[in-house]
Amino acid sequence: MTPPRIDLHTHSRASDGTDSPRGVLEAAAGAGLDVVALTDHDTTAGWADAAEAVGTTGVALVRGTEISTRVTTEGGSISVHLLSYLHDPDDAVLRAECDRTRDDRLTRARRMTERLAEDFPLTWDDVVAQTGDDATVGRPHLADALVAAGVVATRDEAFATMLHPGARYYVPHYAPDTDAAVRAVLGAGGVPVMAHPGAGARGRTVSEETIAALAAAGLAGLEVDHRDHDDATRDRLRGLAGELGLLVTGSSDYHGTGKLNRIGERTTAPEVLARIEERGLLDVIRP
Ligand code: AMP
Ligand code: ZN
Ligand code: FE
Ligand code: FE
Repeated sequence: MTPPRIDLHTHSRASDGTDSPRGVLEAAAGAGLDVVALTDHDTTAGWADAAEAVGTTGVALVRGTEISTRVTTEGGSISVHLLSYLHDPDDAVLRAECDRTRDDRLTRARRMTERLAEDFPLTWDDVVAQTGDDATVGRPHLADALVAAGVVATRDEAFATMLHPGARYYVPHYAPDTDAAVRAVLGAGGVPVMAHPGAGARGRTVSEETIAALAAAGLAGLEVDHRDHDDATRDRLRGLAGELGLLVTGSSDYHGTGKLNRIGERTTAPEVLARIEERGLLDVIRP
């Protein structure tokens, strides 16, 4: 018997992926996966549609969210993505934080659109046209609107130029402190795992001391195997996880056709999923 293949980080149209939630499970089935986690940014809006597809696709579903957070340092603030697995979607504290982030992401996307509109043929309606109903809006939607308007050729080009944090069109959005978010996830019965901790191309990354402090606050794992980590970074993070007693996950961060990441390109060991399920409030939904 071959071990089950498990991918614990994907996005749908409930945030900035291009597949429906059901479509993510269909893609997972097509890639020969046995278990997939749907982890849209700051929302659980895709869970119900994904859960309905478990029976027909035969793919088990881990309900998750990728929470936008930040660590404040002397050198400025660092964006940290915190995966939460199997938490109560109705927990008041966690919900309030995600609602606040989503609201401010909307304000921020409008502000960035206003700034971009000074130089490029882009309207707010163009951005809305690229964003799914109820979706958490993000820079990928602005990128798609810029592609549709003929300003850039690809999402990548938009991220490398006008959507880059260093560009004058960039506006940050509200996000809770990472340690408060870890506590909120634990309070909601979830299992907190830091997403792509060493993805340096996205901006500054957190120090080992910060990760150690978060581990002391209850962080459960590190997403070590991710395409944004080179071999040396993976080795370093695996060593750190061992020292701190953290779980090690691996995942694709699939966004449909919105990014090159192929679903199932990185996977998580079945023993690790078992530990996550033991600790999480919700069960994995199995076919
Ligand atoms: P935001 O959270 O709105 O600041 O946008 C960040 C999101 O954009 C993350 O979910 C990334 O996965 C996505 N992203 C970052 N770089 C790229 C890129 N080059 N192409 C497509 N998506 C990207
Ligand atoms: Zn994303
Ligand atoms: Fe992320
Ligand atoms: Fe992600």
